[in-house]
Amino acid sequence: ENNAPLDFIREIVAEDLRSNKNGGKVITRFPPEPNGYLHIGHAKAICLDFGVAAENNGRCHLRFDDTNPTKEDTEYVESIINDVKWLGFDFGEHLYYASDYFERMYECAVTLIRKGLAYVCDLSPDEWDEYRGNLSAPGRESPGRSRSVEENLALFERMKAGEFEDGAMVLRARIDMASPNIHMRDPVIYRIRRVHHFRHGDKWCIYPMYDFAHPLEDAFEGVTHSFCTLEFEIHRPLYDWVLQALDFKNPPVQTEFSRLNLTYTVMSKRKLLQLVKEHHVSGWDDPRMPTICGMRRRGIPAAAIRKLCRTVGVTKFEALTDIALLEHCVREELNATAPRYLAVLDPLKVTITNYPAEGVPELDAVNNPEDPSAGSRKLAFTRELYIEKSDFMLEPVKGYFRLAPGREVRLRYGYFIKCEEAVTDADGNVVELKCTFDPETRGGSAPDGRKVKGTIHWVSAETAIPAEVRLYDRLFTVEQPGADGADFLTQLNPGSVKIVEALIEPAPAGLPAGSSVQFERSGYYCVDPDSKPGRSVFNRTVTLKDSWGN
Ligand code: ATP
Ligand code: MG
Ligand code: MG
Repeated sequence: ENNAPLDFIREIVAEDLRSNKNGGKVITRFPPEPNGYLHIGHAKAICLDFGVAAENNGRCHLRFDDTNPTKEDTEYVESIINDVKWLGFDFGEHLYYASDYFERMYECAVTLIRKGLAYVCDLSPDEWDEYRGNLSAPGRESPGRSRSVEENLALFERMKAGEFEDGAMVLRARIDMASPNIHMRDPVIYRIRRVHHFRHGDKWCIYPMYDFAHPLEDAFEGVTHSFCTLEFEIHRPLYDWVLQALDFKNPPVQTEFSRLNLTYTVMSKRKLLQLVKEHHVSGWDDPRMPTICGMRRRGIPAAAIRKLCRTVGVTKFEALTDIALLEHCVREELNATAPRYLAVLDPLKVTITNYPAEGVPELDAVNNPEDPSAGSRKLAFTRELYIEKSDFMLEPVKGYFRLAPGREVRLRYGYFIKCEEAVTDADGNVVELKCTFDPETRGGSAPDGRKVKGTIHWVSAETAIPAEVRLYDRLFTVEQPGADGADFLTQLNPGSVKIVEALIEPAPAGLPAGSSVQFERSGYYCVDPDSKPGRSVFNRTVTLKDSWGN
């Protein structure tokens, strides 16, 4: 894989290296909040944070931003670690928890108070809102703003000691109540909240706000470049203010980029949680979910996700990426790596009426035409076979070149067969085809030079193994679920999964969970962890038809 092309963020990093701004160091971080599973949007941030570090001999920290304990949990911590590694990135020893800095953050808040740069405010939430003003009106000063340093120190210590009710008071930075940027109007930096922290229990009843905690976390770790999504642009003056007020030398610099948005996909944690909790999907790792674990289970290779992120690039423009591009990246990757097999998803029986009593030697089938090292395998050609129902038409329409009464097709890796008779049931449904095969066409061509237009796949009825195949499609029917005030749940695709009983050739039947294969003429599939010995379950990753660039 090539390094990503130079984007505006990589230009900034390159310039900082040229000017020796950080002594040649590049230290980045990926800071997820452990309150949900990672999704493909996070992958964009991960590829940027880890990519920029790796390309510049730097390092990237995985830091759990666990300063808001209400929805955080170790379940999420473990899944995030696993997903970052699976995506192909290495944080080495550099795994951190923001909550481990609570003591230092508290000390920083005390320092601000001592410098007259923070004060305790006991306005009620309603008053607070009103005092803050709005875009056209400056804010008003809270009565707490004029408290003495000693009073503030004493009150803040009592906040920490648990002497006050939740919400009774907050610690605010003393900046500028007339700032045109509302975030600079004496923002709250600590609040009282009696919530259990999944790592620190009930040790703390005051918790720092994100805008105060995040620059400190970056600075404590010596981060040089702090990348985040565009919605934090307006918070950047506060990020810089905190670090300057506390005299950090050579402070980290925040740079914002636009998030990844994909068509037919929701990415908000709240909506993903709702899909799981209300059982619209089977779990976080449902193969239809845009989560990393869902995509892994679907069979999407990590390399395809990295490729998508590289192709989309890093800019400041809000964009909606066509999910067809992801599917294209998946096909490109799997085309190179996935072994080919034959599977019939909707079987129609074929009997070869001129099948010789002594049998027919096994056929040779190439495992991957894109990869000669993948070798070949043997296929049994037997008297009874199955083909796909859709590969036969009783009355063929114009342009249909597959099997029909009196017509000849090529069986993949096998012989030409000719349909001599279609057997129908009482309702007129075709239930079996009686065919003859031409022994001279072994290998796929006729010595007399006659041509056939269609090649179809098949399995031997004698050796085929039944398997469950889960045919996945997009989870939503519209490009932007939930847009224009719509309820995204009403836009779920009722056909996003269809389960069929297929017949597969024996070779892929015992493959371990996670293996990717191509079922020829059908799509790429991945062995699901629900598989049991003797009973394979395959998830369709994507069909073969690429709609990208059409
Ligand atoms: P939500 O807003 O749904 O709660 P989040 O973005 O706050 O999700 P975090 O765990 O805080 O979730 O995200 C970790 C990092 O991933 C952040 O730096 C965030 O900017 C980045 N990120 C999240 N979603 C996307 C996205 N769609 N595209 C690019 N980066 C993203
Ligand atoms: Mg966040
Ligand atoms: Mg968020």
